[in-house]
Amino acid sequence: MQHDFDALIVGSGGAGLWAALELSRAGVRTAVLTKLYPTRSHTGAAQGGVCAALGNLEEDHWEWHMFDTVKGGDYLVDQDAAEVLAREAVETVIELEHMGLPFNRTPEGKIDQRLFGGHTRNFGEAPVKRACFAADRTGHMILQTLYQQCIKAGVRFFDEYHVVDLLSEGGELGSGGRAAGVVAYRIADGELHVFNAKAVLLATGGFGRMFRITSNAHSLTGDGAALSYRHGIPLEDMEFYQFHPTGIYGIGILLSEAARGEGGYLLNDKGERFMERYAPRLKELAPRDMVSRAEYIEIREGRGIGGKDYLYLDVRHLGRAVIEEKLPDITDFARIYLGVEPLTEPVPIVPTAHYAMGGIPTNLETEVVRDDVNTVVPGLFSAGESACVSVHGANRLGTNSLVDLLVFGRRAGRRMAHYVRQVELPHSEPGAALAVGAEIQEIRERPAGESVSRLRTELQATMMDHCGVFRTSEMLSTALADVRSIRQRYGGVAVTDKGCVFNTELLEARELGYLLDCAETTVVAALARTESRGAHSREDYPERDDANWLKHSLAYRGEGGPELRYKPVSITRFEPKPRTY
Ligand SMILES: Cc1cc2nc3c(=O)[nH]c(=O)nc-3n(C[C@H](O)[C@H](O)[C@H](O)COP(=O)(O)OP(=O)(O)OC[C@H]3O[C@@H](n4cnc5c(N)ncnc54)[C@H](O)[C@@H]3O)c2cc1C
Repeated sequence: MQHDFDALIVGSGGAGLWAALELSRAGVRTAVLTKLYPTRSHTGAAQGGVCAALGNLEEDHWEWHMFDTVKGGDYLVDQDAAEVLAREAVETVIELEHMGLPFNRTPEGKIDQRLFGGHTRNFGEAPVKRACFAADRTGHMILQTLYQQCIKAGVRFFDEYHVVDLLSEGGELGSGGRAAGVVAYRIADGELHVFNAKAVLLATGGFGRMFRITSNAHSLTGDGAALSYRHGIPLEDMEFYQFHPTGIYGIGILLSEAARGEGGYLLNDKGERFMERYAPRLKELAPRDMVSRAEYIEIREGRGIGGKDYLYLDVRHLGRAVIEEKLPDITDFARIYLGVEPLTEPVPIVPTAHYAMGGIPTNLETEVVRDDVNTVVPGLFSAGESACVSVHGANRLGTNSLVDLLVFGRRAGRRMAHYVRQVELPHSEPGAALAVGAEIQEIRERPAGESVSRLRTELQATMMDHCGVFRTSEMLSTALADVRSIRQRYGGVAVTDKGCVFNTELLEARELGYLLDCAETTVVAALARTESRGAHSREDYPERDDANWLKHSLAYRGEGGPELRYKPVSITRFEPKPRTY
């Protein structure tokens, strides 16, 4: 079946929904395609907050926010992008408030704000309250608010349509072609639909599911990143993957940094607040890469609880009122999943794979760019966690992702509305869906072969054990050999469900292919980068090396695997300095 639209949005998280809203307000014929029901997007799981230098409780300025973002990202952030983020954070959060988002309030009725890691006053002097929040359900409220606005604006939704390919006109996307639409698999009945469009936004979120312990939903498999990679577009800075310091022990479900923002402690087996040794000024509110590393070191040196591989998050001293009013969901998670009562007991935690700093390279207008001189791919856009603009550099600060969705989702919608007025609707070839249809059919019909879940488990294990918080050349070489052998076996993957109706096993097979692309580019870029910067921590190269490595990596799909090129970092205001907290 064929559909014609002016603009297509792939993904209904915060980034996709805000873009859709802008487009429909501008009168553009827009469709949102999502493999989930829209309000099940991972944005709805975001807990702690969205930051903006509103200065509601104490003095704050967007320049301070910009500086914290750049320093937090270990100077790999593109500073022109960080400036856009910090400046436009303020107006987008206020716009959300006007759309009706139920933020927590100060006694005078202003949006309440709390502390979050790495956010400081006056260029690093002391922590500043910058995170706006709705209890610990901020993402849920953002997603519901934007969805309601989209329904009001008449945005057309195609729920449970799984995008399986990108279409182009005038050549491959990576070599001069322009975006022409997508092919989607309707989950209800397995039918392929071709959507022709002038402009396509990839807002498909992250790929935390390539790790064993992760805070990410099952659906976060890097679909948009992998599809654009397969069409010749590089993936940027894939070696930088964030581990969040407080995942529930054993399962990785997130306990928001808001717990520490409200004053919670991290404790080792001796009852010490060990972060005092690693970040004397900010302690528990140091950036996530540092806290996760400190936790690994504590465990490795035998100070895990009872000598085991976990530590404690302690919020008992905050008292019942703060916990119930500001941290209700995460304290419930501790009760439900661990049977621990946070009012009276400390909660066992470990680092959990959380956020992709890298992704599809874009410019400040969210247009996808395909090389080291930022050549634009006409009609293709990306925003949110799938994109790398790059505002997070080598390590993202807490609350900076939600604001990235708002700022760059809004920019995407505006830019796309401008673009679609200048071009004609492309027409894809009649057989546009044939190639991907044949790939899917081949897996469905293979009588027997490798199991999807076994291969995925092995991939997640090797990525966790060999490409996690600490890395060495030896570990990464092991990971690469494992990923390549899993990829080879993936060529013979088979499913037991041969049907067309809600065949989730078949779609998981497809998603495993995307995860393999993301994993391979991550490992190859990590092996090449012989320095430690932000979340990429090489024990064999423990120092940051600006002389050789102050540059973004670009991983292209090549014959024998990913091929790397590099591009410069945009530095406008803040020269790189040693990073202490
Ligand atoms: C537990 C948790 C808590 C967090 N807390 C915070 C926080 O407090 N503050 C903060 O700033 N950040 C937080 N983050 C990070 C932040 O929530 C995410 O980075 C952000 O929500 C990503 O939004 P997105 O719009 O890019 O994509 P998502 O919200 O992840 O949505 C992706 C969308 O893409 C669609 N999709 C994917 N593949 C396909 C396909 N093939 N076909 C069709 N549709 C597809 C999905 O259906 C979905 O609609 C948190 C993350 C997690 C996991």
